[in-house]
Amino acid sequence: MSKEIPYKIYLEENEMPKAWYNLRADMKKKPAPLLNPGTHQPMTAEELSVVFCDELVKQELDNDTKFYEIPEEIRNFYKMYRPAPLVRAYCLEKKLGTPAHIYYKFEGNNTSGSHKLNSAIAQAYYAKKQGLKGVTTETGAGQWGTALSMACSYFDLDCKVFMVKVSYEQKPFRREVMRTYGASVTPSPSETTNVGKKILAEHPGTTGSLGCAISEAVEVAVGTPGYRYVLGSVLNQVLLHQSVIGLETKAALDKYGIKADIVIGCAGGGSNLGGLIAPFMGEKLRGEADYQIIAVEPASCPSLTRGVYAYDFCDTGMVCPLAKMYTLGSDFIPAPNHAGGLRYHGMSSILSELYDQGLMEARSVKQTDVFEAAEMFARVEGILPAPESSHAIRVAIDEALKCKETGEEKNIVFGLTGTGYFDMVAYEKFHDGKMDDYIPTDAELEKFRARLPKVD
Ligand SMILES: *Cc1c(COP(=O)(O)O)cnc(C)c1O
Repeated sequence: MSKEIPYKIYLEENEMPKAWYNLRADMKKKPAPLLNPGTHQPMTAEELSVVFCDELVKQELDNDTKFYEIPEEIRNFYKMYRPAPLVRAYCLEKKLGTPAHIYYKFEGNNTSGSHKLNSAIAQAYYAKKQGLKGVTTETGAGQWGTALSMACSYFDLDCKVFMVKVSYEQKPFRREVMRTYGASVTPSPSETTNVGKKILAEHPGTTGSLGCAISEAVEVAVGTPGYRYVLGSVLNQVLLHQSVIGLETKAALDKYGIKADIVIGCAGGGSNLGGLIAPFMGEKLRGEADYQIIAVEPASCPSLTRGVYAYDFCDTGMVCPLAKMYTLGSDFIPAPNHAGGLRYHGMSSILSELYDQGLMEARSVKQTDVFEAAEMFARVEGILPAPESSHAIRVAIDEALKCKETGEEKNIVFGLTGTGYFDMVAYEKFHDGKMDDYIPTDAELEKFRARLPKVD
């Protein structure tokens, strides 16, 4: 038990997970199914396979199989950048003067700079195995597009990325990384799709949103033979692949007999959080152990803390299936001055259901507070964090400071999802005092809520 805990807990290659864990199998009340937007009936595998690869459709609909073996090709790819270290944040603890023990799982150790590669490589693998020519997708801040470009180039697949216009303009270097890996990148909304033209006509000068870019990518996938659409978050299949984060974290903690008390992750569409918490939540669902689990979201895009639990479109163009989730409304577009990539209007159906059952908490945090935490973390722990990840850092620090008051020696584990080298414009705004904390009013949110689809 009292083995000295190193700064970094590494697993051996042969201790890496050999199967992904499907948390849905342990949920008594399952997440609500995707619905056909026309008929409001559950989407069938046949309908979904027009848009998604066959094996991924199977994973999407499977609420019962507990483990999916990770194919050997994917495990070999993982070995290039995994296992990811679990780091004991000794320096941060010292800086805060807290008796708490803080650990973070660092997923920024690959060229794409985030956890997204864990699912990108799986999705590219299944597309290749199905004999497809290529895939289309959207990207917001750019991490998913980068990860998918890397995965597609590894399996020699074509990759068409629709990038939210504001990011396309603010992050030219992300775009060039994608092109280095052979992807084509189009700013969204664009004139290359019908839905893009329609959105541009209705909202001239729009800086775009993930929801718009999804609509465009789906339109191209469905209309181009040999192509399917892939998505970097929100979907059940993505949370399944990301369970590798949580499984490694749990194995590393177990190696030193450490029991987590609090598990914290940032939440955009919910994939890193869903992956990180999976084995912990599984124990909680099976009544084997208890954990405090906290989702952290930006105050400017507060799906869990201020959204409603309802069926909604996954995209702005309303071409995708309906998902039951905590949502702000599919045409909600967060303030353009919001720097992080956590701009999605909805949330994974799995996490929405768990949150609704009271099995996890959610907090929303202001942008400037997030960057304050990011900067402190960078200075003491050495890693320059992504703004998204820094939402989790903020709450980990807050919880550690609470322990300082109460004297509790809690074990706090959080997901450090990526690095922030491409987010220096946001850091610049913060340093120059030009970052603001726009928080939508209730009246604004009500306006979007009123436009939710009516499903009974
Ligand atoms: C995409 C991204 C997120 C948020 O996405 P989730 O699906 O909610 O995990 C968080 N951190 C980083 C670094 C990202 O790239």
